[in-house]
Amino acid sequence: MTIERTAAKSLAGERLGAAEALELYRRAPTPLLGQLADAIRARKHPERVVTYIIDRNVNYTNVCVAKCNFCAFYRPVGSSEGYVLGFDELFRKIDETMAVGGVQLLLQGGHNPDLPLTWYEDLFRAIRERYPSFKLHALSPPELIHLSRLSQLPVAEVLDRLIAAGLDSVPGGGAEILVDRVRKLLHCYGKATADEWLDVMRTAHRAGLRTTATMMYGTVETDEERLEHLLRLRALQDETAGFTAFIAWSYQPAHTELSGSEATGVDYLRTLALARIVLDNFDNLQASWVTQGGKVGQLSLAYGANDMGSVMIEENVVRAAGASYCMDEVEIVRNIEDAGFTAKRRNMHYDILGDPIFREREVPRRLELSTSRDAGDGGEPSELRLYPARSHVGKIARLQDDAVADWPE
Ligand code: SF4
Repeated sequence: MTIERTAAKSLAGERLGAAEALELYRRAPTPLLGQLADAIRARKHPERVVTYIIDRNVNYTNVCVAKCNFCAFYRPVGSSEGYVLGFDELFRKIDETMAVGGVQLLLQGGHNPDLPLTWYEDLFRAIRERYPSFKLHALSPPELIHLSRLSQLPVAEVLDRLIAAGLDSVPGGGAEILVDRVRKLLHCYGKATADEWLDVMRTAHRAGLRTTATMMYGTVETDEERLEHLLRLRALQDETAGFTAFIAWSYQPAHTELSGSEATGVDYLRTLALARIVLDNFDNLQASWVTQGGKVGQLSLAYGANDMGSVMIEENVVRAAGASYCMDEVEIVRNIEDAGFTAKRRNMHYDILGDPIFREREVPRRLELSTSRDAGDGGEPSELRLYPARSHVGKIARLQDDAVADWPE
């Protein structure tokens, strides 16, 4: 089929097959891809509203046994740079988030063998009790698989327990590329195979949770594998309709074992447009300004995105790999409005919450994203002693903590 005929098929709202989509991606000029993606965005969102969420992106621990070779964020068990956030630190972050109109935490972290399932349950319960209306968008599929292995419980049971404790929705992290050849090369096959990642999402959707889906592209995958990732997500969405949104970001190579170079802005825009064209059963596509910067983030709105993602407030993972863009609510809204759209705040379910909050009341400007821990702010949270550690290093550390706690004043 010619590019023109495939483009006409897309414009008519028909689903494209794998060969057609691949041909389009490889041969269509970039403006044509943008035009097709924008037509779908306009069909799904004719009111010209672009949304964003005020939430905080918190990484509760950087200790991880998975050791993906594209990750600059993790530290091995026993590292002096490893950290776990305490409950009080997390409460403080929630207070700060609510002060700028935030409605949820996006909570993800490393696969820390010394944090058992009960630590998560107690944390979620404590948050639910203190902040009844605040939402927890937490624990990507590989983290849930890690907890399932650690607790020797099926993922469905882990999810049920976490939902009972206060989990509201599941972020789509850890998908990378959902093709096992790629996952083996990225050393992330062990944390979750493509089928396992999709199965966790299927289980979460069946348990009544909505989730997002992501893709980290630009490492070792071929064009066919990039497309296969999208087709696998489309198939699961046909089955469950549980995904609220799709987010693509480019691999950030600085300080990683894999190293290499970062995909260009045009590659990002073409990939985003391809996603909008292929993922015909996804309503929402986010712009990844945190990896692409505000200007390409804004251009994303002409390449299929209808959402500017989160104001984030805090970011650790992408920054560890060298990118440190920052947009607060004022800047996000300026970019949306300059592109000719109306900006609206939303929640994780894409319900509109209102106009920009800084137009309703004074909100402090943020010109830099925070990190999980300020430099030099080390130390283990005291409540960790209440939970059994699994690693040798962790067991010794907790025994020492107990001994110190038992010393007379
Ligand atoms: S990407 Fe996640 S699972 Fe992989 S090493 Fe980094 S923190 Fe661990």
